[in-house]
Formats: sequence, C-alpha cells, structure tokens
Amino acid sequence: MRQDIVQDTYFAKALTGWRHAFHRQPETGFEEVSTSHTVATILESLGLDVHRHIGGTGIVANLRVGNADGSGSGNGAIGIRADMDALSIAEHAPGRSYASQVPGKMHACGHDGHMSMVLGAAKLLAESRDFNGTVRFIFQPAEEHGRGAKAMIADGLLERFPIDAIYGVHNMPGIPTGRIATRTGGIMASEDNFVIRIRGRGTHAARPHMGVDPLVIGAQIVVALQTVVSRSVDPGESAVVSCTEFITDGIRNAIPTNVVIKGDTRSYTPHVQQLLETRMREICMGICAMHGAHCEFEYTHEFAPTMNWAENTALAVRAATVVAGEAMVDADVAPVMASEDFGVFLQHVPGNFAFIGNGSGDEPGAIPLHNACYDFNDAILPLGARYFAQIVRDSLPR
Ligand SMILES: [Zn+2]
Ligand SMILES: [Zn+2]
Repeated sequence: MRQDIVQDTYFAKALTGWRHAFHRQPETGFEEVSTSHTVATILESLGLDVHRHIGGTGIVANLRVGNADGSGSGNGAIGIRADMDALSIAEHAPGRSYASQVPGKMHACGHDGHMSMVLGAAKLLAESRDFNGTVRFIFQPAEEHGRGAKAMIADGLLERFPIDAIYGVHNMPGIPTGRIATRTGGIMASEDNFVIRIRGRGTHAARPHMGVDPLVIGAQIVVALQTVVSRSVDPGESAVVSCTEFITDGIRNAIPTNVVIKGDTRSYTPHVQQLLETRMREICMGICAMHGAHCEFEYTHEFAPTMNWAENTALAVRAATVVAGEAMVDADVAPVMASEDFGVFLQHVPGNFAFIGNGSGDEPGAIPLHNACYDFNDAILPLGARYFAQIVRDSLPR
C-alpha cells in the first residue's frame, strides 16, 4: 500500500478513536471536566502550549511557527474553535459499540466530532509546521446554552490570546457527506426568549363580569403576536415568533388571576431583532391596557446571530475547494434558523462559520441533530481536520 494511504488510514483511525471516546463520556454545559482534561492532554502530547480553565472548562492551545526572534508573531494569529458540550438526551442506539455510558446524556449535536476534527488539525499542523504565525485552538464550553463563548471572552480570552480571525464548523445532517457549505452574512439566526406576565382578577367561572380574565387576554396576545412577522417585518427579511408555553393559575370552575406566556424568537439581523422586541412589547402592553389588566414583558437575548465576514468567507471557500474539490463546495448555502454560540465570537473578531455535510437521503448521517438516534459521521473527520489546516496555511503563509 502507498505510504500516504497508510498515513491517511492511521490518521482517520486516530480521529475516530478520539471521537468515540468523547461519545462514550458526554458532559453537558460547563461540566465538561473530563472532556476538557482529555482535550488538553492530547494537545500537550502534540507539543502545544495549553491553557486550561478559561471561562470555566474552556481550553486554549497555542502553536507558534516562524520568526527567528522567538516572538512567534509571524503573519498574525488565527483562532480555530470547537465546542465540547453534550445534551441531556437519552441515547437510543442499539448496537452502537461506543454509545453513551452516562444515562440521560449524549453527544446528539456532534460536538464530539467537532473536537476530533480540531484536534486532527492541531496534529497535522504540529507535524507539518508549514505556516508562519500563531494558531490558537479554542475549545469552548456550553455551546448549547449559548453561554460558553461569552464566558471565555469575559475571562479575557481575546486580550490574553489575541486573534485576527476565527473559524468554526458544524456538521449538518441533510447536506451530503463531506460537502462544505457556507455564505457571507447571516448563516444562523439569533435566538431571543420572552416571558409575558398578565395579571387580571380571578373570579367564579359563572361570574366573569366580577373579574378580569387574563386567559382571554392572553389568547388575544398569542394571536396578535403572529402579526409581528406578517405585518411589521419587511417581507424580504425573515423572522420567527413562537409562543411555546401558556400557564394559568385557574382551576376548572375559577377564572385565573395570572397567565404566563413564554416563547422564542429567531432573526438574522440586529435591526429585525430590535423590531421584534419593540413590536411585541407594544402589542402586549396595548392589549392588556385595553382590558384593564397588568402586564410585564421580559425579553432576553440568548444567542447572537452568526454573521459571516465577507473576506474570511472567501478564504474559507478557497480552503474548502482545495480539500474537498469545487463540486463539493457551496459558497451560498441557505441560512438555518437554528442558533449557534459562535455568533458571539464573530461580534468581536472577523471570521467564518461553515457547515460540513453529515449525510443526506437514506444515509445514517441524515438523522437530525438533537435526535436520540443521531450520530456524527466519522467519514468526515479527516476532511474537517484538513479544512482547518488549509485555512491556517492560507491565513498565515510562509
Ligand atoms: Zn446542538
Ligand atoms: Zn451543535
């Protein structure tokens, strides 16, 4: 067998071994203690300068190549990011030899694969050292909560480890295996949550005129909120407003005093995000005032939109073309309404976020993210590693 094929096989086996080990021991947000220990140990074994406990369980590992003066600044510094957390979902994978050994938890979003790809890039670059500058491998906690990136930044990530640009990927069921897809601008949505508290006046179910019925008011609010997207948002833009919980303190024969409505909104741009909040507040306050009820409206930003920078997206597309071939690259993929904590990094540093196809059609990799049967497709591990390594070579040329 040719030497390069033998090396490729060893490389794929190493990455798959790491991935399966992570898969067996899933840990959820900010509890990635043994996961981050494993990541740090592998990075140290590759000779990198590893820093632990950044934003909780976060890790930064530096690989410097270049400049005779030893400063290692070379052509700058690039961040390559992976996420480490699993989900509180009970895995349903009969016969999966490396299934989760932690009841009620699993890597159902493929972050086990993301870690292995980024570790693979570190291994490739630590061996080849064919660039000039600094690569910082960033392993963040708590992506699913949308809290980990902020925690690392609040802990001084960008001051202690400055970077000129940052790159990340997410595996994507529904995209053919190994296809790399991205776009300039919004690729993943912002997520905001809201809580509407309506206080009326409870009364006997048979004597409604004695009270103020918050349930009828709440029902009007749920329907009226659907006019925000259809009547207030520019039809050329997109947004989602979903009420997901409706809670009352009523009983069968008593009209309640309190109603709480909770829900979730998605959008791609800060101005649409602001518009949703403003219009929703006006509708809730207006309808409650009309009926003489008291209203509190709470709106919280959970995830920033993931907005790709044009120049970095062009560089990512070129790197993808080198490693995957032109036919396997999509430079203008449709954005996805789900949210991603990577968006926070892109508010501070230029960069790009891309999807890497996990499988489509009847392929096992097509099972959706966050499904109990989902699994990361091991076949794309070496490709992901080579993609990141190519980005580093192109960003920090010798
Ligand atoms: Zn997820
Ligand atoms: Zn994810």
